[in-house]
Amino acid sequence: MTCLICGTLYQPSATWSRLFIYELDSSTCKRCFAKFEISKSTIDFTDFLGTPYEGAVDSVFCLYSYNEPMKEYLHQYKFLQDVALAKVFSGKLQQAFQRKEGIVVPIPMHPEKLKLRTFSQVDKLLNAAQVPFQQLLTKTTSDSQGKKTKKERLETTNLFEVISTIEAANYILFDDIYTTGATIHHAAKILKDAGAKRVDAITLIKG
Ligand SMILES: [Zn+2]
Repeated sequence: MTCLICGTLYQPSATWSRLFIYELDSSTCKRCFAKFEISKSTIDFTDFLGTPYEGAVDSVFCLYSYNEPMKEYLHQYKFLQDVALAKVFSGKLQQAFQRKEGIVVPIPMHPEKLKLRTFSQVDKLLNAAQVPFQQLLTKTTSDSQGKKTKKERLETTNLFEVISTIEAANYILFDDIYTTGATIHHAAKILKDAGAKRVDAITLIKG
């Protein structure tokens, strides 16, 4: 197989689990994959205590830290629009979702931004991992959150809107990166206000 990251040919290892348990084929050589660093940082929600977002998110699980190889990966994936790269983390993402129970809801892109980007990188990561999801939110503002201060991000009202019925069930938000947590908290609050019982979140990266 050809590694999606470095382009060299490699031999996928025939592990015991590969033979007996369904596992997504990896698309990256061992050398490239080893450069990604498992996130060990714990997420605390102290920034949100005393705000309307307190208690909105029940838990957050981030798979990888934002090291140099991950920055390069994300740049190539998002900005150079290399959609094939969605496969790199499919196996690990599938495992992460198997450990949680709930309706998976990806963080949406603003329609205008989606036009520019041509594909939603968050949805494509889930597709590659064969994780079923429901598009239950829509983004109401195209303002780039990245240019705002943390305080400004928290004060922005209605980043998202619910576009379908929310049940008294568990939901799992999914985004590519968790930075200040504002995006996830906004989305979680909208879901909880609409009746969600529990809202967990999974992100590929801890920024
Ligand atoms: Zn490689």
